[in-house]
Amino acid sequence: MTMTPPAPVGLLAELTHRCPLGCPYCSNPLALEGREGELATGEWKRVFSEAAALGVLQVHLSGGEPLSRRDLTEIVRHCASLGLYTNLITSGIGMNASLVKALAEAGLDHVQLSIQDADAASADKIAGYAGAFAKKQEVAALVTAEGFPLTVNAVIHRANAARAGAMLDLAVALGARRVEIAHVQYYGWAVANRGQLMPDRAAAAAAVAEVEQKKRELAGIIVVDHVIPDYHARLPKACMGGWGRRTLNITPTGKGLPCHAAETLKHLTFWNVRDASLSDIWYQSPGFNAYRGTAWMNETCRSCERRDIDHGGCRCQALALAGDAAATDPVCHKSPDHARLADILAAETQTEPAPYHYRRVAARGSA
Ligand code: SF4
Ligand code: SF4
Repeated sequence: MTMTPPAPVGLLAELTHRCPLGCPYCSNPLALEGREGELATGEWKRVFSEAAALGVLQVHLSGGEPLSRRDLTEIVRHCASLGLYTNLITSGIGMNASLVKALAEAGLDHVQLSIQDADAASADKIAGYAGAFAKKQEVAALVTAEGFPLTVNAVIHRANAARAGAMLDLAVALGARRVEIAHVQYYGWAVANRGQLMPDRAAAAAAVAEVEQKKRELAGIIVVDHVIPDYHARLPKACMGGWGRRTLNITPTGKGLPCHAAETLKHLTFWNVRDASLSDIWYQSPGFNAYRGTAWMNETCRSCERRDIDHGGCRCQALALAGDAAATDPVCHKSPDHARLADILAAETQTEPAPYHYRRVAARGSA
């Protein structure tokens, strides 16, 4: 069945892969791009102009660390001039008082700040960066004093699962209005660190319960968006709101992707903004059309009452765990591969974790 998708609502711009932190769960690909291949300022401006013309309402300026780009303020100013809502997703490293003011003056609308843990020593160890925890306190204070609405992002895994609730308290203390707290999604560097990151079933369940309890306690104080761990679920999430349905990603070198992990689907070709318009990438490119609608689904999903709710789950996870990107997401209890999740969970959590493979641009092409 052919379908014409609606215009995209959001665009996630991975302005760079450069980042001072080394988070072992980073969703960037293992083969990180260096500065040389990044889109130039003018190319990014054209992308945002085309995005606005296409109907995009929100742009998420991400990376890597977007503050690594010296032209960030110029990019924000351009997006604001187009009427786009601009959200900066940052680790905070590289931020200072004058840059916060410059970004406000350029028209930035919102800041999303990542935290690694509620315990300073553990947070710095996870980030692979001494002083990161303290720097984030400073940045949150600068950002909120400037009047930006602040969202805190936190990722739950083996090293911090016992402090899931404390991370919510930290988000409140930092002045955030919203917190996104998610268990690790196993893409990118997280796959290379799966044994180091995966909590056992009891720890994951306790963290989920603690977050849900805190969410009730903090109602009216902070909005808590909670993403539960895939490997413990019975039903998959509606990954990206469905493939090519709501948002698109542009990589540092200009590739248009339906999700940040889509490059793991090696059988697909993704067009580049250097060669094609954003409109053609969204509406015409084979990569975006591959998993739209229901024709690509197997009978299990196509005949299921949830097919228009979760769209069959995540294609990247289906490929990684079932060996077929068009398979039912193995997180689903109806998948013939569902039992494999329990096997992986048992295998990955029974031993002491090895040291992290930190994510570094210098480690281009290797884990
Ligand atoms: S997850 Fe960590 S390493 Fe990856 S881009 Fe964000 S701050 Fe940098
Ligand atoms: S069978 Fe497919 S559509 Fe149905 S719940 Fe599972 S993944 Fe979703």
